[in-house]
Amino acid sequence: MSYDSDRLPTADCQLPKEAMSPAYDPANIFAKILKGELPSHKLYEDDETFAFMDIMPRGDGHCLVIPKQAARNILDVEPASLAAVMATTQKLARAVMKAFSADGVTVQQFNEQAGGQVVFHLHVHVIPRFEGVSLKPHTGTMEDQAVLAANAEKIRAALG
Ligand code: AMP
Repeated sequence: MSYDSDRLPTADCQLPKEAMSPAYDPANIFAKILKGELPSHKLYEDDETFAFMDIMPRGDGHCLVIPKQAARNILDVEPASLAAVMATTQKLARAVMKAFSADGVTVQQFNEQAGGQVVFHLHVHVIPRFEGVSLKPHTGTMEDQAVLAANAEKIRAALG
């Protein structure tokens, strides 16, 4: 099946993208991180994806994976870009398990305000989990930069 970037790419759901999701805003925070206009604790990068620490972590080692391609969320992303994001998500999930000797890992992804999305550039949360430890609130407290830097170093080391 050929892919028309203005339409949602499924055989049985050929709706215009704008019917489901507003236009991508190139001034969003993660677009600025990708352009190097805002700082981040970088963990990993390849041709299609970028991974960095979440600044308001729901647990130690909480990180984010984003596509380099402009996409607001899962409703407008190109499937190839989404596939690349998920491949990087798996790398990060394995790395945080190793880096923190975690018992499990939570992978989350939110779409549109009603779906819990706050930043409108597609991103996947990767959060190491520990038996008996609950997640902190979403976008709760800004983490100390030194803690983020130390956790980022552990994850980079685990990525090898
Ligand atoms: P959501 O859009 O609901 O998935 O949440 C956005 C996530 O981005 C939250 O977990 C925030 O803590 C995180 N966040 C917001 N600004 C930044 C930033 N400048 N660097 C890293 N993470 C951020």
